[in-house]
Amino acid sequence: MSADQRRRVEVYPDREVVVEFDPELTFECVEDCTWCCHHGVLLYDKDLLELAQRANLAETTTDFRGEKFVTREEKDRDDHVGDDGCACAFLRDDGLCTLHLEEDWKPTRCSVFPLAVFLEDGDLHVDIRDSAHEHCEGLNVSERKVIENLEAFLPELLWELENPDSDREL
Ligand code: SF4
Ligand code: SF4
Repeated sequence: MSADQRRRVEVYPDREVVVEFDPELTFECVEDCTWCCHHGVLLYDKDLLELAQRANLAETTTDFRGEKFVTREEKDRDDHVGDDGCACAFLRDDGLCTLHLEEDWKPTRCSVFPLAVFLEDGDLHVDIRDSAHEHCEGLNVSERKVIENLEAFLPELLWELENPDSDREL
């Protein structure tokens, strides 16, 4: 997208993002896809504190390059897993998230997907993740415009982070 097509959107009072994706883009998560839950998700410090109140961190998190991630674990099933048979420790056999269902909470990065966030010249930018273009089944299958629902993808915490960039993966 060229620079003049980017647009600034206020997501919360005084919290703006620069939108890099097509404003016509729609998204609705497709039941049974679970692709984005086959990976280990990054936990920001605040997420880690929240998770500590809900799960055993020793069993469900792992360190990678100085940061904390939710553990990927081998699952005893054929669906809702990656090519190596593993998925997020919180992904249940039925393809639903234990945290979301039982705690009504999920890590920030799980809300952000399929978007990518990054800081540029002090502004928070938001685009679609490259991997989402390839694997996410929820893009452009509904009437729900992403640009009109940014607060559902972008928890306010993101504006407080020194490094919110979503390119860190397990
Ligand atoms: S915590 Fe839940 S929503 Fe996030 S990746 Fe794991 S199963 Fe998916
Ligand atoms: S990859 Fe997209 S459609 Fe699939 S579970 Fe994740 S957000 Fe939903």
